[in-house]
Amino acid sequence: METSEKRSRDHVMIFPLMAKGHTIPLLHLSTALSARGVAVTVVTTPLNSSFIRQSLPPRPLSNINLAVLPFPRHPSLPFDCESTDHLPHHDQFPLFLQAAESLRDPFRKLLHDLSESNSLPHCVISDYFLGWTVHECRRFNIPRVVFHGFGVFSLLLCKRLVATRPHLAAAAAGEETFHVPGTPAGLRLSADDLPCALRNIPSGEDPLLPFVLKSTKAELESWGVLVNSFQELEGEFVPYLEDFYRASHARTWLTGPLCLYHHPLNAISRATDPCLDWLDGRPPRSVVYVSFGSQAHVSEEQMEEVLQGLEMSGQDFILVAKAAEMARPTRGLVIHGWVPQREVLLHPSTGGFLTHCGWNSVLESLSAGVPILAWPQTAEQPLNARLVVRELGAGVSVSSGHGGLVQRGEICKSVKELMGSGEKGRMARKMAEDLGKMAVAAVNEGGSSDLGLTRFIEDIRRAAGGLSQVNNVGSQ
Ligand code: UDP
Repeated sequence: METSEKRSRDHVMIFPLMAKGHTIPLLHLSTALSARGVAVTVVTTPLNSSFIRQSLPPRPLSNINLAVLPFPRHPSLPFDCESTDHLPHHDQFPLFLQAAESLRDPFRKLLHDLSESNSLPHCVISDYFLGWTVHECRRFNIPRVVFHGFGVFSLLLCKRLVATRPHLAAAAAGEETFHVPGTPAGLRLSADDLPCALRNIPSGEDPLLPFVLKSTKAELESWGVLVNSFQELEGEFVPYLEDFYRASHARTWLTGPLCLYHHPLNAISRATDPCLDWLDGRPPRSVVYVSFGSQAHVSEEQMEEVLQGLEMSGQDFILVAKAAEMARPTRGLVIHGWVPQREVLLHPSTGGFLTHCGWNSVLESLSAGVPILAWPQTAEQPLNARLVVRELGAGVSVSSGHGGLVQRGEICKSVKELMGSGEKGRMARKMAEDLGKMAVAAVNEGGSSDLGLTRFIEDIRRAAGGLSQVNNVGSQ
């Protein structure tokens, strides 16, 4: 085993999963750490490197370097697929994770070379799904810090639901709601709130399950967990999450919303973006922005209902669509491809966000003061929707029934509910506006997340300076 004496200046290594929703917040964290004088090495693969370079502050203004490892080829994945948003179907995610596991050898070599040049990092911040990094970190005696890309509420509930499975007992007893042990006493969930993977347990056949089990084991052997959230948003749930991780001696830090560390020089050029130009001509808070994120596969039939529902609502809109063919809208803009989402949400003409409730989208919306029309699609998104609508009151829901096609009439009704002058819409707007101010205050000097980041840097510095065994169990 290498020793920690070889570390010199403040240096953090960040290894995101090759998925936009997992990478983007860690690039914002890199920017924040770099602004505090910490050198950052971001580990990635060749086809992800140009997106990453574009998203980071230019080199003379930052001390962020890229370490580019070759992406391991997998016979069942397209040749040029190095990011989950290029997977032909989300069912291939386990194959993608399997391919990514072969990055272990080049990652070990990278750490070895850094060790030889006396520049090992203080810690490695690794995506939850790259659980195998814990073994390489241990080999070089570097703390591993886990990043899930989840908020506190969804992380806590996922952990406790998997451990205690109260939903199964409730279903067997015919009860509609249930309490999850280890969460606040008054909190009761229903089946609609469950993360998608838990709706099918205990089938044991989910191909993602082996990766989840391995990643969870690695997480509990790691040194700490960084959470992209802030105290004022989810403070009620923080002590419960800390309790959960304390059992495995892992520390937790809240440092979000990380999108607020976005570097101004990376803002999209206003002159060249059609969405921002189009928004310029619309009245304040009049436009509904609609996006299902970088990964969700929404059927063409469903997208057509969305388009027609938006038209029926009479509201101006921007709809981000993957399908190339769609009817021509009369009131809105349909965009195929990448949209500068943060800038769209920050635009004064944007008044609501119909979203799949990916955690980044939720944070970006609330920190811009934009209320949410929640329509979760997969993963932990139902929990994020529950938090936004029922716990925070910063949005309303699309009633999606039990999975079938959601009709245009329902979409129209929900859009009117969010954007109209009724009680629910007004309350959601007010709450989003208040949370937006709190989010900015959290990352400003002396705010809760600013202090969380300071504590994180002090903790890793202390670990680099002295601990002999930084992860929680013996070497493998
Ligand atoms: N995003 C974007 N433009 C797009 C689609 C997505 O900028 O056209 C960004 C969005 O701002 C967010 C991330 O991609 O930062 C998506 O993450 P999220 O957690 O919301 O959803 P996911 O794509 O992981 O399902």
